[in-house]
Amino acid sequence: MTSAPAPEIRLNGVRYRWPDQPVVVVCNDGGDPTYIDRALKGGSLPNVARFIRTGFNAIAESVIPSFTCPNNVSIVTGSPPSIHGISGNFYLEADTGKAVVMTGPELMRSTTILAEFSRNGAKVASITAKDKLRQQLGKDMNIAAGSINFSSEKADKCSKRENGIENVLELVGMPLPDMYSAELSLFVLEAGIKLLQTERPLLMYLSLTDYIQHTYAPGEPEANQYYCDMDAMLGRLHDLGAVVGLIADHGMCDKSNPDGSRKIVWLQDALDLELGKSSTTVICPITDYFVAHHGSLGSFVRVYCHGRTTPDAVMKLARKLPGIEAVYDKTTAARRFDLPIDREGDVVVISDAGTCIGTTPSAHNLSALDGHALRTHGGIAESRVPFILNYPLNETYAARAARGDLKNFHIFDFAINGTAT
Ligand SMILES: [Zn+2]
Repeated sequence: MTSAPAPEIRLNGVRYRWPDQPVVVVCNDGGDPTYIDRALKGGSLPNVARFIRTGFNAIAESVIPSFTCPNNVSIVTGSPPSIHGISGNFYLEADTGKAVVMTGPELMRSTTILAEFSRNGAKVASITAKDKLRQQLGKDMNIAAGSINFSSEKADKCSKRENGIENVLELVGMPLPDMYSAELSLFVLEAGIKLLQTERPLLMYLSLTDYIQHTYAPGEPEANQYYCDMDAMLGRLHDLGAVVGLIADHGMCDKSNPDGSRKIVWLQDALDLELGKSSTTVICPITDYFVAHHGSLGSFVRVYCHGRTTPDAVMKLARKLPGIEAVYDKTTAARRFDLPIDREGDVVVISDAGTCIGTTPSAHNLSALDGHALRTHGGIAESRVPFILNYPLNETYAARAARGDLKNFHIFDFAINGTAT
């Protein structure tokens, strides 16, 4: 570290004080509040139970679309997508009609809280389960000055130059985890603990994966075991003297009919039938290469109109479909959900808690779901998330929390500025 620590950092209208103990924010991907409720009832979360009792506990709202990338970027920038620009995994470019993948840091219109602390002399670390998030979370971080940024997915390929760390498997003491496993997340937490013991970064962001939540319902033994393992690790982070914030990027809902069949609206098919083929393009912005556990089916889609097709015609039709909760034109969607309007579709369609939306059956590979219910997210029903801190709030932040309107992306603000440690 060459420069002297700055007394405070400003980003996106928020002032962050220089913390006097390490701050660790854990984003439990897809960690719907019901999972914690069910596991707490079983008595297997002693540390989380203690945080709730003696720290702070509330339900916050995620960004909508309640997808992984927009919410993770919101959390690390402390801002809604209208400011940072990431509103899904990809969007359709207006002039060319080309699908643009939105996982690149160059598409972010804001730097991050981590980067600002890093550039002002703090050692910070960002560890993510899936490598697709790594570059955005690590945007502008000063790796050369000692900050660390890697994923458990590619933990065996870390270099000092790219990631600020090497020999991660030895440090963590775990084998490289499988992409579809609880260990992919537990590896992130264990790595965070080891870093806190050795390098002691001032700020850490630990972003897990939603594999467990996509695969198992709250209260199922596999889910309870995962929460129990996570609880033990959160306890160790607390014991190492960190302020710990537990948040989720979004919740998760079961999209099944009572008979167990999947409840899917095939929106492209419905629009093609009524308005004609090639009149619209439905984009599922949950789509990425890591789709086995949701088959690219989510609860929020964007529709682009072609030729003479009007947004009004699409909205009229979509509103009539069973399982659709909300339909908005571009301007209303951008205003209501604080989204970047230049990356918005002509129409936004959101399904209800029990339904998800696809384009046409042949475009979605659901074979990997065999044996499991379809659990996914993206809509309003999946926007409730836990917001837990291991220390109580100071007076100012307690008053703010009492006023409501708590967002998941307030977690760094609350953890850094709001705790009475
Ligand atoms: Zn997620």
